[in-house]
Amino acid sequence: MTQRSVLIIYTGGTIGMLADPRTGALRPMDLAHLEEQVPELDRMNVRLGSESFETPIDSSDMRPADWVRIARIIGKHYEAYDGFVVLHGSDTMAYTASALSFLLQGLNKPVILTGSQLPIGTIRTDAKENLITAIEVAAACDEQGRVRVPEVAVYFEYSLYRGNRTVKVHAERFEAFRSPNYPRLAEAGVHLKYDGAATLPFRAGQLKVHDRMNDNVGVIRLFPGIRAEWVRHALSTPGLKAVVLTTFGSGNGPTDPVFISALREATERGITVVNATQCFGGRVEQGRYTTSQAFVELGVLSASDMTVEAAVTKLMFLLGQGLGAKELGAAFGTSLAGEITT
Ligand code: ASP
Repeated sequence: MTQRSVLIIYTGGTIGMLADPRTGALRPMDLAHLEEQVPELDRMNVRLGSESFETPIDSSDMRPADWVRIARIIGKHYEAYDGFVVLHGSDTMAYTASALSFLLQGLNKPVILTGSQLPIGTIRTDAKENLITAIEVAAACDEQGRVRVPEVAVYFEYSLYRGNRTVKVHAERFEAFRSPNYPRLAEAGVHLKYDGAATLPFRAGQLKVHDRMNDNVGVIRLFPGIRAEWVRHALSTPGLKAVVLTTFGSGNGPTDPVFISALREATERGITVVNATQCFGGRVEQGRYTTSQAFVELGVLSASDMTVEAAVTKLMFLLGQGLGAKELGAAFGTSLAGEITT
């Protein structure tokens, strides 16, 4: 079999950081620093290429334009490599993974995001294992030479997850990610065990790299006692096109008439409202309780079992396609890249 090839795209994050001698705070370093720390890369039977953000960033500084930048790099090198590894800060990795799953329409090759909780130069680092296994996954193919994971995934601490199903769940543990509503795509132990039934099927047609995200999207997290006038004020933000309400349990919220009329005014102005649960797992079922009945009447869209990260980036993506409210409503409820159970 011919040697497999993987392109590493370095965007920043803890994996490549060093302590600033002046303040002691961690800041991103260039790709050369990272490569120096992993001599094992030369021993892998994979042809590696690399691309890097000119100035690597902490993922808290990621913006939709950066997601498009990563998608374009993948599009530019799509034919030249068998797979892609995106090195990224863990803080907003779930958003980037979700956004890439929508931007890379028709993807049939692995795009594996990984990073680490400790910088690669530290003795107890989790970075080396994450990087080396992510490359293995990106290069992996079956006996017929077909890639194992033809989708955007996150590899972290022995688990491979569908990217748009992930949530960062811990600020310190090496096991920082989970996929509450979808099984793991692979588990790394002595062997790398893939769950072929969980991965997306191969898609027909060519890769299409989208390049527009509309960031006129907001998130309002409900809490008991939330003031209706505050909600009304937030919904009056100029330019706002869509909002994700993170609700209680299976999609419930206050029945306070002032709160409901604030939502009604927003929907009448054409703002799309989405209902996503604050719960870690499970799905929204609008109308199950009286406390979600008003959402049904207002035409609020259910995020079902999507993560908030997937819901926000999907809205940005669909608005970026210029969809009107009706088409957006229909597209939001369909699975574009396995982000929702339909
Ligand atoms: N603040 C870092 C980042 O997201 C944390 C990490 O990489 O784990 O870029």
